[in-house]
Amino acid sequence: MTIVNSQSDKLIHGLAADGTVRCMAAITSHCVAEAARRHKTSPTVSAALGRTMTGTLLLGASLKEFDRLTTQIVSRGPIGSITAEVNAKGEIRGYVRNPEPDPPLNANGKLDVSGIVGEGTLYVIRESGYEEGLYLDPYKGSVPLISGEIAEDFAYYLTKSEQIPSAVLLGVLIQAKEPLEHFVSAAGGIMIQIMPGASDETIATIERSVKSTPHTTAMIREGATPADLLRAALGPLELQVLEEKPVSFACTCSYDRAVSLISSLERAEVESMLREDKGAVMICHFCNEAYTVDENALQAVLNNS
Ligand code: ZN
Repeated sequence: MTIVNSQSDKLIHGLAADGTVRCMAAITSHCVAEAARRHKTSPTVSAALGRTMTGTLLLGASLKEFDRLTTQIVSRGPIGSITAEVNAKGEIRGYVRNPEPDPPLNANGKLDVSGIVGEGTLYVIRESGYEEGLYLDPYKGSVPLISGEIAEDFAYYLTKSEQIPSAVLLGVLIQAKEPLEHFVSAAGGIMIQIMPGASDETIATIERSVKSTPHTTAMIREGATPADLLRAALGPLELQVLEEKPVSFACTCSYDRAVSLISSLERAEVESMLREDKGAVMICHFCNEAYTVDENALQAVLNNS
């Protein structure tokens, strides 16, 4: 298992306006940088993947119970699909179908995320009972993409599919080093959910303050904490933080899992890996880690089957 831990990546959830507003915020700079490094994503794809990973993390933070939450964007644009998965421990991983598309900046001088995502569908799959081996039927929801910029699509999902009017801000700041190199210098976001019972005044206050809040990534670069991001977006409403936890990029793959996957293949296929390829390289699509299974290990698989 690969774990990238960073002190500064954090997730919080809290309440405002006497519990009628639920709010989440995350700083994910290191997680997103690690995903971009592993998958060698272009700047625009890094932004799309980072926003999706952060949105998934925030969505998970609003749930009482889940073991694994997966969001998948299946798009007709050049990126193909984006998948992000988070567990209750704040471990996140993600990947895209095509890491390369990198169109010119859009009319606003921003990375053209909707240009590579385009039309498509946002799927949300929530599994619980997983850790206990109960395998309850997973909850599944989906909505068509309304913008392809990701944050608006998460907000639309919450409003439409879960009947929770929400404001979602997601940001990934890419700092170019060389023409062909780039790195993620800040990533994070907030999610504000309006619960039943919220007053019209509360809703109007949030609409106003979210509109005038500074850019998430600019605040993160200046050292803002997740609570600072929320306080800026909530304006005069007081934030009550309920929980804060660390966030890390982590994957569940391992050498043993790679071998066990090979064990589940047809015998003829394993024989061909041994005779023709003299070994096998298994690549985890979630984290791009490569596991080399050599001839001795393949022979052991055949001996044990
Ligand atoms: Zn992996």
